[in-house]
Amino acid sequence: MKNGIKIVIAFIILSLSFLLNEDKIYAYTENTDVDSLIQNKEYQKDLKNKISNLEGQINEKRKYIEEGQSLSSDDTEVVSISFVDQEILANEDKVENEIESIEQEKSNLEKQLEESIIEEAYLEKTIEENKKAYLAKNNLDFISGIWPVPLYTDISSPFGERIHPITGEKNFHRGIDIPAPQNTDIISTDDGVVIFSGIQNGYGNVVKIKHFDGKKSVYAHNTSNLVKEGDIVKQGQVIAKVGTTGNSTGNHLHFETIVDDENINPINAVDR
Ligand SMILES: [Zn+2]
Repeated sequence: MKNGIKIVIAFIILSLSFLLNEDKIYAYTENTDVDSLIQNKEYQKDLKNKISNLEGQINEKRKYIEEGQSLSSDDTEVVSISFVDQEILANEDKVENEIESIEQEKSNLEKQLEESIIEEAYLEKTIEENKKAYLAKNNLDFISGIWPVPLYTDISSPFGERIHPITGEKNFHRGIDIPAPQNTDIISTDDGVVIFSGIQNGYGNVVKIKHFDGKKSVYAHNTSNLVKEGDIVKQGQVIAKVGTTGNSTGNHLHFETIVDDENINPINAVDR
């Protein structure tokens, strides 16, 4: 009887943990796709460094051989060939072999790099397809992100028609302004790929991110940007610091959301 109860309890615990795990497995899978993408990028960077290092080695060895050949072809100077120069001549074959083996190594790395680029495209497509499937299933145009400046939720200038604070003219404000002290962290509202990081007219230091559900977000007037074009960023990752660069009257984040090439009110795209 006691054993019977134990078996029933064990069974209940087992099925409960299985049910809970299913949810976890789903979330985990999505997360690891983005992690894999980040790892893939790091791996590519590493491979590119190794390849350029090998190129340097090959060039050096070629130069060494060329020096040797110029010595042997210059008959009048043969008498004055030093001990070191003679060694260069004798070593020519050995160095040629070394070049060949380095070139082999380089071509292996290049193959790995190619595969890694294909893998990157595959991962990106998988994440995008997952997000699009989620959008279709829930009848959404985009997935809501998180607030870009944690703890600072005031809006000093809303989205839409306004009198421009600097020019005094009526214009369309394509985003919202969120005041915060200089160097406050700006975080990415969602996972995505950095499509621009630099200085742009009016915007000052600006970061633009394309998210995997298709929406884009813009973070402007930053003191500094912490990501660069091509970087994969995760939701919540610090991407820049609040500032007042470009056409700005004080420290704040100018934040835009773009869906289907159109600016929408960002307040509807992030959870405040
Ligand atoms: Zn603004």
